[in-house]
Amino acid sequence: MVGFVPTMGALHAGHLSLIDFCRKECSLTVCSIFVNPTQFNDPADFEKYPSTLESDIDRLESAGCDLLFLPSVHEIYPGGLNKINKYELGDLETKLEGAFRPGHFQGVCQVVERLLEIVQPAKLFLGQKDYQQCMVIAKLIVLMGKEEILSLRICPTLRESDGLAMSSRNMRLNKEERIKAVQVSRVLKMIKEQIKPGDISGLISSAAFILADEGFRVDYVSVADADNLEPVEEWDGRKKLVALAAAFLNDVRLIDNMIL
Ligand code: AMP
Repeated sequence: MVGFVPTMGALHAGHLSLIDFCRKECSLTVCSIFVNPTQFNDPADFEKYPSTLESDIDRLESAGCDLLFLPSVHEIYPGGLNKINKYELGDLETKLEGAFRPGHFQGVCQVVERLLEIVQPAKLFLGQKDYQQCMVIAKLIVLMGKEEILSLRICPTLRESDGLAMSSRNMRLNKEERIKAVQVSRVLKMIKEQIKPGDISGLISSAAFILADEGFRVDYVSVADADNLEPVEEWDGRKKLVALAAAFLNDVRLIDNMIL
């Protein structure tokens, strides 16, 4: 059985944990590294995206990955970057990440559809770190009519010892920013610990306020229905929820989420 772990490189232990899950469940583990130009709504973010190919290859070898697929832009976009498909993602692509990164999930679907066509995996391993992306790709699998032959495994978020979610973008944080960055996970943890049935809007805004007060530029802090990402401000005490946050520290954008 072919298992597949798509990445954009600058690999860290979070990526390697996906390789590990894949190796345990599949007979062949394929990883791809491709920094997908069409999913970057901000060209500067694309240009500054870290690249550490030599060490990525060493890490994949030590982790026991069987095959690394390192496509060129032409291989993924044979018709050119402007010849693109349109995916019907509904309001999944306009809320949260979608609202702040217009076009991002269309770009994600472009690349993932093409990678799935080429690699033809039976299992796809994604990180919960990108919660909304997991939901978008689940939808893409249905749109591609592959739900019978491709199963999606969503793997837990690996964190640094202080709680910061591992991310390739963390490499771009300076010392002072790195210390502050942990606040994103702290406010999510605060929501998780303090949430009670009833009106939760005050708790959500105090989390956003803490981040702003620490010097973050907050895109959103939200508590949503874990199944469809509909925002929740009044909790019935039963619905499964997820708290999500995205915020910039200078020009580095951090995202994280926690199931409550
Ligand atoms: P990226 O290279 O950032 O596109 O991520 C490639 C895959 O690794 C995606 O499925 C991510 O959700 C997953 N991933 C990123 N960070 C983590 C993490 N800290 N823990 C687990 N998986 C992660």
